[in-house]
Amino acid sequence: MFVPKRVIFEKDALKYRRGIELYEYFQNKDVEIIKLNSNRVQGIPGVDLAEKYAEGKRTLVIGVRKTLKFQTCKPSAHYQLPLVTGCIGHCEYCYLNTQLGDKPYIRVYVNIEEILQQAEKYTQERKGDITIFEGAATSDPLPVEPYTRGLAQAIGFFANQPDGRFRFVTKYTNVEDFIEVEHNGHTTVRFSLNTDRVIKSYEHFTPPAGKRIEAARKVMEKEFPTGFLIAPVFLEGDWKREYESLLTMLRDNISHIPNKNISFEIISHRYTSKAKNRILEIFPQTSLPMEEEDRSFKYGQFGYGKYMYNKEQISEMKEFFEKVITTYFPESKILYII
Ligand code: SF4
Repeated sequence: MFVPKRVIFEKDALKYRRGIELYEYFQNKDVEIIKLNSNRVQGIPGVDLAEKYAEGKRTLVIGVRKTLKFQTCKPSAHYQLPLVTGCIGHCEYCYLNTQLGDKPYIRVYVNIEEILQQAEKYTQERKGDITIFEGAATSDPLPVEPYTRGLAQAIGFFANQPDGRFRFVTKYTNVEDFIEVEHNGHTTVRFSLNTDRVIKSYEHFTPPAGKRIEAARKVMEKEFPTGFLIAPVFLEGDWKREYESLLTMLRDNISHIPNKNISFEIISHRYTSKAKNRILEIFPQTSLPMEEEDRSFKYGQFGYGKYMYNKEQISEMKEFFEKVITTYFPESKILYII
């Protein structure tokens, strides 16, 4: 279980029952507690970005989500469901490194009822059509679930929403914190998987592949729709053998489960210049493959350019994953391989 080094309470958080409960809970723990007189987060040490990053990742901020205007979340969902921002993991390639800048702390919201009421309003606006909410657009929410119970609450809420669906993705394994909740098939839990070589090299402070697969098995045994996100795929070294053995391990662990409702999303590694610069500041010794001359440059849908593997490599990757997934998981859906 994630134990923060310090917990910061924003002023308004203590106006909510959950904020008060968390305040009382951490009083008896060996953590630094900072009670703010405002809602402006301060008190996290660190002179440079690397230090701020290390300290921020061990800081839990308890706050109130003021903006109840949800961001859109295309193409995979209609809206982001803001339960948590930030993540305890230290993945070198993580999109949060650029997105959260020098605020890498984990901020959880205590006004979950208000957030879910807002989700209901959005669903009502599209009544008759399904509205999908993504719970991990700016976080991995599972490590802080023992404190927030936000996922469990959202799963229970969406179980009773005829037109609302919930999904989130995680690399973490404390699924016991939500799997007993009645889901009614309305929540899809996706697990982000990678080979143990990639995990050891780049996904610091995250569980090994075997543990993630074990967690996925537990979720599937409770009949949650389940997805597997294999990303980022690195087409380096003996990648085919390594990804095939990952998928074999998955097959062996879930083969006993009848009527599997599973999907796959496969994303090759890519990076922007901005991300590369940020990664080099936080992880100066990184061995992430980021040599521009080995990649093709492409403009993405948001107008900035990305360095991708070249066309032939992507075709080879598609062919490989299609073949292995359809052989090992003939009943699954491949949502995309990009
Ligand atoms: S687990 Fe996911 S959200 Fe967390 S640091 Fe790693 S890539 Fe980022």
